Amino acid sequence: MNTRSLSFRLVTWYAGVLTVVFVLLGALTFISLRHYLEANVLDTQARRARQIADTLIARGSRDTEPAIAAAVENLYSPASNDRFIRISRADGTLVYSSGSPRGEGFDPRQVPALPAEAVAARPSARRVAMGQGALLIAAVRASAADGTRYRVEVGTSAAPLEQLLRRLLVMLAVGLPLTVAVAVAGGFVLVRRALDPVAGIARKAEEITQHNLSERLPLVHSGDELERLSVSLNHMISRLQEAIDGSKQFVADASHELRTPLTVMRGELENLAQDPRLGRETRETLGSVLEEVERLAEIVESLFALSRLDAGEASSDWRRFDLAELAATTAEQMSLLATDKNVTVHCDSSAGVMVEGDRARLKQVIVNLLDNAIKYTAAGGRVRLAVRREQGFAVLEVADDGIGIPAEALPHVFKRFFRVDSSRSREQGGAGLGLAIVKSICSAHGADIEVISEVGRGSTFRLRQPLAADAPAHA
Ligand code: ADP
Repeated sequence: MNTRSLSFRLVTWYAGVLTVVFVLLGALTFISLRHYLEANVLDTQARRARQIADTLIARGSRDTEPAIAAAVENLYSPASNDRFIRISRADGTLVYSSGSPRGEGFDPRQVPALPAEAVAARPSARRVAMGQGALLIAAVRASAADGTRYRVEVGTSAAPLEQLLRRLLVMLAVGLPLTVAVAVAGGFVLVRRALDPVAGIARKAEEITQHNLSERLPLVHSGDELERLSVSLNHMISRLQEAIDGSKQFVADASHELRTPLTVMRGELENLAQDPRLGRETRETLGSVLEEVERLAEIVESLFALSRLDAGEASSDWRRFDLAELAATTAEQMSLLATDKNVTVHCDSSAGVMVEGDRARLKQVIVNLLDNAIKYTAAGGRVRLAVRREQGFAVLEVADDGIGIPAEALPHVFKRFFRVDSSRSREQGGAGLGLAIVKSICSAHGADIEVISEVGRGSTFRLRQPLAADAPAHA
């Protein structure tokens, strides 16, 4: 679990605050209920005590004390009703005390005498701890007809009340964590749902590259920071698109403008180099200038091709053709170049590997790969070109046993103007654009290209392109 995530922190805070609120609320409920119930019980006891004082004692006298005691016993049956009743004179001498209750919850003889000052005019209430439980006792003052003063105490066990409170405590102890757990789960789902649009924005942002900069992030119509974020990011993408389009347009325009003067320069230089009136040295200098102009023209052509591919220009020549046949004819055309370098090119392709695409551009891919393979293979080496079908894909492989590519350079070979070793490539005339063109053409055809290479052992470039729709997946 990611403890630094926004959802985790939000839910933790939420759970913490909720627990504190619930615990406080539970404690408050418990204390107030206990207070209310005790007050209620004591009130009932006080009323009963007042009843005894007003009906039995007020009409009696010191002489009728046994009759008062009998009447209390008769009317209230305290022992069988689990009640405590005690009548004593003002000096503390006992007149009547109820017997042990049926429930044996308390022993009336153990109830301490009421302190004299406790019996005020108003009924007094107290809680007397008795062994395991407690007694709730209300006491009132009473006066007999002959002026004798008495105290009447009426009490009952607090056990039923405490049992009720215990049950409430258990309910709170079980219910509280359960409620917090449900609230936390709900909170987690809510936070996740609230953050869903952010995940959607992140997913889309990851899909956007320089090739699909016209696409936009999903807008969140929430009217808050999230909506502002998605709108601002989309504005940023628009500005990036304008900047990239501008630089692509610049390369396209510049390479297009340079083509004509370079062609003219090449023609003029070729004519000039053949002029017999010029000295040998001048002709040699002109020859090397011509070579550089040709190299420059090649680079400009490559840049122009790349800018057209970048622009996603739809090919007018999109059709179905046999990649194996194209590979075989291209290999044959390039065998002359290989023979010059004393490199053998072996083509191994089973016919009928049908693909869809621009034949001329895919030929460019094969030419560039073969050209590199021949260029970077020493005399006496071998280059193998193979085309085959593999699980619904056409696979084209160009393998050589040449100098190979160092592992650290492998991730960069398809980048523009990247050369493994600029001095070694420059000698061979490359500008580092051949594989960039290969990559762009592959992308336009929905094909993947990968390279496996080892220094001193050779390299294998493998292209995988989906077979044409109606071509059988297996031979
Ligand atoms: P260049 O036109 O300079 O050859 P590429 O884009 O075709 O540029 O290739 C980029 C770099 O990859 C080259 O500089 C070269 O060092 C390396 N490379 C490409 N193909 C091979 C190969 N078959 N064997 C060894 N190195 C290669």
